[in-house]
Amino acid sequence: MANPGVDATSSQVPESPLFDIKQVPGKGKGLVARIDIPTGTRIFREKPLLIARNMSPHMLQKDLEPKIKALAKDQQRQFLCLHNNFPGQYAFAGIVKTNALPCGSGAMVGAVYPTICLVNHSCMPNSHTNWNEDAGHETIHATRFIKAGEEITIAYDKGGTSDTRRASLKQSFGFDCDCPVCSLGIPELQASDTRRLQIQALDDAIGDPFRMRSSPAASLADCHSLLGVLDEEYGTGRAVLARLYYDAFQICIAHSDQARATVFAERAYKSRVVCEGEGSPLTQKMKRMMENPAGHPNFGGYSKNWKTSKSQVPKSLDAVDFEKWLWRQGR
Ligand SMILES: [Zn+2]
Repeated sequence: MANPGVDATSSQVPESPLFDIKQVPGKGKGLVARIDIPTGTRIFREKPLLIARNMSPHMLQKDLEPKIKALAKDQQRQFLCLHNNFPGQYAFAGIVKTNALPCGSGAMVGAVYPTICLVNHSCMPNSHTNWNEDAGHETIHATRFIKAGEEITIAYDKGGTSDTRRASLKQSFGFDCDCPVCSLGIPELQASDTRRLQIQALDDAIGDPFRMRSSPAASLADCHSLLGVLDEEYGTGRAVLARLYYDAFQICIAHSDQARATVFAERAYKSRVVCEGEGSPLTQKMKRMMENPAGHPNFGGYSKNWKTSKSQVPKSLDAVDFEKWLWRQGR
């Protein structure tokens, strides 16, 4: 995120034909689409200015000092122009804590970027960032159509109701979220909060490996319910869809159902392509699972109760009946 008080010159970052770096009212600098950007477009990719481990502010400051000294002058300027929500004794650590994006889901290591760190937050983002471990860069992709003039946004929040999100965004990043969701009227906001809580509850239930083993039909039904709530809340194109389809894949493959697993892997693959691009290691993993679901280490690991082969994907069903087959509805 940008420092609202510092006027970083955009000439310090590489030119892109897709966006401009502009002052966004109340937010400091932000990225604004220069032209219409179709879903799945890679907006930008960027190498980190620096990478740091998660540690105490004192230790982090010590770790950062030589790294920042080693940067070129313009890179030092880029770093110092980023917003610091924790000013005081450990200024470098504060900038990293405010801006670093984790290098992969759940990583203890985070990276700071001159441009991608300027992308502002929305609880209804239109883009998704992803760390590509193989390439050593961060990418940002449009997860839905972005109109020329619209701000490019990602989600900084960790979920929950609007009140929870707003409190945590204020604490971690120092701003009051006034995104299109947080600005809804009371009844609409309550409906959104209910859906967000449902999303969390379903996500937790699906992640339970014991339930996946003993009640796979219930786990798969939860995946289907989650898909419905996600669609209602966000529309299509959320990165979480790739994870949802991969969960459904894992349930099916653990119970030896290669036919449905193939379809779910294909959907996970397509969602990853939109959010991360073809070159992402996770996209490639989904492609391998789609081509050879039996190659998954937990193939048949829970039971053979749902045993099918890849060739048993039905070819003559209409779309509605295909979905019923896929989600094992009416069984
Ligand atoms: Zn918001």
